[in-house]
Amino acid sequence: MNNLKGCKPKLNKPFCQDLRTLSSEELKQVRCRLPGSNPFEGMKIKNGAFLDKLDGRTLCKKCGKSRKYFCYSCYIPLPEIENDIPIVKLPCFIDIIKHPRETDGKSTAIHASIIAAESVSIYTFPDIPHYNKEENVFLVFPDKNAIPLEDFSYNKYFGKCESKSEEISKNGLPPVRIIFIDSTWNQTKRIHCDERLKDLQCLQLTTRETLFWRYQKGKPKTYLSTIEAIYYFVKDFHLKFISDNYEGEYDNLLFFFKYMYEKIHTLYDPVSLLAYKE
Ligand SMILES: [Zn+2]
Repeated sequence: MNNLKGCKPKLNKPFCQDLRTLSSEELKQVRCRLPGSNPFEGMKIKNGAFLDKLDGRTLCKKCGKSRKYFCYSCYIPLPEIENDIPIVKLPCFIDIIKHPRETDGKSTAIHASIIAAESVSIYTFPDIPHYNKEENVFLVFPDKNAIPLEDFSYNKYFGKCESKSEEISKNGLPPVRIIFIDSTWNQTKRIHCDERLKDLQCLQLTTRETLFWRYQKGKPKTYLSTIEAIYYFVKDFHLKFISDNYEGEYDNLLFFFKYMYEKIHTLYDPVSLLAYKE
């Protein structure tokens, strides 16, 4: 009899390992959305085919370490592709607080800091700024007092801006900073209790399902990856406070996410993977 373990194809880390660890039930959920369904249909996301030309790993020009696509320590793309990476300007500032034990290479938070470098900062807990809640700083966390974004009033919560769109278009970024925590759910709860964060008004995101391929065991499909959470947030923010028309302005935030999603689903077709499991 074949030793199935020995037959597992050798695949590039990190995209493919975790799908194999899914239960049959989880794989069925993946299969429901595939094949044939394209979750990115209609989005204005740059074609990532040029990433294919990166053969293996190359060196980060800042730290000199061997990386693929981008350096997850320096938050910059590799020199071979830096001029081709899409650039997105967000409608508010985004701070991402990551847990020191999170593996940098697996985090989708880095995607945001590379594609929207002007608007996004990443901090490693406990090394974080001293936030002042008077300065329109909000934390995305579903605590019991969290306000759903759809109930948010710009005048009430975002200071003195009289008009929802004029002020923003005149001054560029509005004086709003949104904090996302990038870590597992248990770590997130702990970070939220930090005294520098615990008094901030929390925001609750609109419920959506994740497409992320690294499931957190026991977590519902509504537990989004960080880049998905940021993407949906800025899109909702735009529709609520800037314009009734959304024309894909922030879709490229999902540039790496889409590329990796498609790569993993090509390499590991969920239908055959399910057959392998059962
Ligand atoms: Zn580097």
